[in-house]
Amino acid sequence: MSSRRWLLADQLGPHFLDDGAQPVLLVEAREVFRQRPMHRQKAHLVLSALRHRAAELGDRALLVRAGTFREALARVDEPVEVCHPPSRAGLAFARSAGLTILPPRGFLTSPEAFAAWADAYRRGPLRVGDFYRWARREHGVLEGPPGRVPRRPRRSDGAGGAVAPAPPPIVEDEIDAQVRDELDRWEKEGVRFVGRDGPRRYPATYAEADARLRHFVRHRLPDHGRYQEVMSVGDPLLAHSVLSSSFNLGLLDPAEAIRAAEDAWRNGVASLSAVEPFIRGLLGWREFLWQLYWYFEPGFRGANWLAATEPLPDWFADLDADAVEARCLADVLGGVRDRAWAHHAQRLLVLGNYALQRGWSPTELADWFKGCFVDGADWVMNATVIGMSQYADLGRIDTRPYAVDGRYIDELSDYCGTCRYQPDVVLGDVACPYTGGFDAFLHRNRGRLAGDPRLAAELDERDDLQVREAVLAQEDKRGAGPP
Ligand code: SF4
Repeated sequence: MSSRRWLLADQLGPHFLDDGAQPVLLVEAREVFRQRPMHRQKAHLVLSALRHRAAELGDRALLVRAGTFREALARVDEPVEVCHPPSRAGLAFARSAGLTILPPRGFLTSPEAFAAWADAYRRGPLRVGDFYRWARREHGVLEGPPGRVPRRPRRSDGAGGAVAPAPPPIVEDEIDAQVRDELDRWEKEGVRFVGRDGPRRYPATYAEADARLRHFVRHRLPDHGRYQEVMSVGDPLLAHSVLSSSFNLGLLDPAEAIRAAEDAWRNGVASLSAVEPFIRGLLGWREFLWQLYWYFEPGFRGANWLAATEPLPDWFADLDADAVEARCLADVLGGVRDRAWAHHAQRLLVLGNYALQRGWSPTELADWFKGCFVDGADWVMNATVIGMSQYADLGRIDTRPYAVDGRYIDELSDYCGTCRYQPDVVLGDVACPYTGGFDAFLHRNRGRLAGDPRLAAELDERDDLQVREAVLAQEDKRGAGPP
């Protein structure tokens, strides 16, 4: 008897199937939505994507709705196989249920190749830059001569509205209407979501994701490199691809996207400085984080080198952006509430940085990111939040604390001009919470940070008395509500 291929909710693209006839299993398990508060738009996207995939596959697909995955499998009376699940819990479950587990898909580097690289290379912490150089050679990416890139008109950062044409809109259909009705009912029955509902903003099918990818490569990629670190109150998307949920749902194959971006470079559509950061994000960072998640045993959870144990305050956990006066934090937290997404610089420098400065629990923060972001996944958030952003796992990967003050945020954004605080003020009514918070962070962790050249220099520059006062001012604010 041939096996039925179980497509998990992050395996919904064509590259997770081999032949056109194999029967398919799709499962909607309520337990997923009850474990911890999930953003309403994320819940909508996951259910919509599962149901759209079932509709595409027609009679081939068996869609089971159940309370738990185990209950769902109990209703299937034929052998089931699954591509390597994307979480440790998922893998343990698949083993315990006796499923046939196929190698992972959706990544260019195999676990064996990564382990061989890491074992051979390793003399200290693993570095993403070293891995990325190796991966480019290994997969033959960005080698050879470029195409000629025509001059593009220049615009000042963030000025004059959106810096790139908006992604094509998503058109909701009957499946989305059913999902919305069902989630409304679940909420009435007590399932708790965070964030605001809204029109579906992210692709739920391969066709939608592919259309977004093609539009990005043609119209947004040329400006991607230039704006990747910028934060702007008037333009939340800038020239980012906003395709992370499509990769993490498995709709898009990263290899396909890398090829499309490389072709844009070769054909003169975009410069190397625009294309290379996009490819580095996929071939470097994304692959590196996935591989680290499986390579390191034990995993990142529990790592807490800075001994940060403060719980997340309710206003942050509940995305209460209206309670926040700090312009940057209100904008980014509001973006998460309204779109279940923020770009990389906002995640690191505004959200993660605020938590790091105040000693919030890295594990709690990783769970928050996982539930609130439309692209949140265990392997992504544990490595990025616990391993990197919160500097909790020093020694196994090469990172540094993403702690910066308000002046740094001011350099990269247009937030501070309309903020009630001032980025260069440490004490008093208009003291920037990020600038005082940075001093407090340095002071609290001075013994642990002595080995970091940048932060050691920052410590040397500071007057001790001022640091102490800033610490006290900051400590007073801890637990006292949003800034
Ligand atoms: Fe953020 Fe401080 Fe700038 Fe206000 S002054 S926007 S709190 S960095």
